[in-house]
Amino acid sequence: MIKFKILTIFPRYFISPFMEGLLKRAIDNRIIMLETIDIRGFTKDKHKTVDDTPYGGGAGMVMKPDPIVSALEYASDEKGYSIIVFSPKGKKFDQIAAKRFAMHDKFILVCGRYEGIDERVMEFYSDEEISIGDYVLNGGEVSALVFIETVARLAPGFLGNDQSVVDESFENNLLEYPQYTRPRDFRGHTVPDVLFSGNHELIREWRLKQSMNLVKERRSDLLELAKNNEQALDGVKKKNNGGNNG
Ligand code: SAM
Repeated sequence: MIKFKILTIFPRYFISPFMEGLLKRAIDNRIIMLETIDIRGFTKDKHKTVDDTPYGGGAGMVMKPDPIVSALEYASDEKGYSIIVFSPKGKKFDQIAAKRFAMHDKFILVCGRYEGIDERVMEFYSDEEISIGDYVLNGGEVSALVFIETVARLAPGFLGNDQSVVDESFENNLLEYPQYTRPRDFRGHTVPDVLFSGNHELIREWRLKQSMNLVKERRSDLLELAKNNEQALDGVKKKNNGGNNG
């Protein structure tokens, strides 16, 4: 079971996402466990203040370290938690990072708001600062959802069919090939004939080629990494040609 504890000033934000679909099923089946912890519950003043003005001046407010660190201490009820703080200046989160995280089973996820969190929380009380992309969100709650959903779906048993993960985008630095379902002819738009050939090797070759074309067209950053797949395609082609000739 993977445990996720979320530190946030908006715990209600997480109610509906965990009541739907595969995440709900994973919670019901105890594949994942989720707990939200309200940072405001760890403030010491009557106004439950979590933010203050930045030293040195500047726009906006900064989240105070004290309530967050007290919440972290409360959440760390056993050893082994990875403490992740979400921030646009963090290390970029991607499928490779998700796989690395999926090897762990206990996370405390800290969601920032305002202009971010006092730097000492990241420096002295967390393991990693993570960004979910090069854009700025209002808060870390969306980032926590992205992190949980991506890591959880790699957990054994999360998806009914573990093969689904193997064929997905970013596996082998590829993007997923086009998928089709019934009807074969939708308003004159037909499904590629190869998919009806019944020849699984040919279908595999077609899919690999489609995946590689998508990477070439859309994701030059993945291209270098995907070069190894050219060799895989060559291998499949040779095998198919050999099969056809035979
Ligand atoms: N002033 C900060 C900056 O320029 O880097 C942005 C703070 S943002 C408005 C407030 C919070 O949203 C952050 O503390 C972080 O938790 C979350 N956040 C915003 N963008 C994010 C991103 N790309 N990845 C992860 N978390 C993000």
